[in-house]
Amino acid sequence: MFDVNAMFKLSYGLFVLTAKADGKDNGCIINTVMQVTDTPMQISVTVNKANYTTMLIDETREFNVSILSEAVQFSVFERFGFQSGRKTDKFAGFDGVKRSRNGLLYLTEMTNAYLSAKVVKKLDLGTHIQFIAEVTAGEVLSDIPSVTYAYYFANIKPKPQTEKKKGYVCKICGYVYEGDPLPDDFVCPWCKHGAADFEAIE
Ligand code: FE
Repeated sequence: MFDVNAMFKLSYGLFVLTAKADGKDNGCIINTVMQVTDTPMQISVTVNKANYTTMLIDETREFNVSILSEAVQFSVFERFGFQSGRKTDKFAGFDGVKRSRNGLLYLTEMTNAYLSAKVVKKLDLGTHIQFIAEVTAGEVLSDIPSVTYAYYFANIKPKPQTEKKKGYVCKICGYVYEGDPLPDDFVCPWCKHGAADFEAIE
């Protein structure tokens, strides 16, 4: 048997992945950063090919990872997760950033560390690309614990406004689809997750 809920027991952190090409900065929210070796110090990052940030990393082979802390506010997910950098400047009006040595941005607020890395290998996984990268710099920014995916769901994501509504709610961001049935090819307009991440409103 395979119960997909078993997958949801895996624990993840949450990160803002930033890159820059041709003078344009971009960043996106990911949950897929992990250390893979310590000599040399290498991390892996897996990102959707459709993400603008993925394209920038593929081009420049450099990125920063800002490690989000439990102080992170939902607005950071709206800013970096629920809109595309192709159409907007995700950093417009956002002060909590600095440039690291490599010239890329990292978040100075609501984070507890950042890492700079250089891609050494790339693996094509169909919908996603996995980059293996060597860590070139890193700095601790606060002592607040790193936020986990579970903490985000329990404490940061606003409770969806489903009262008196009929339809489906996105488990990732709380978007409410009013109607029945939910089309199989439906894509959440906020977070871009598919119909599989929706559940019926009780
Ligand atoms: Fe969503």
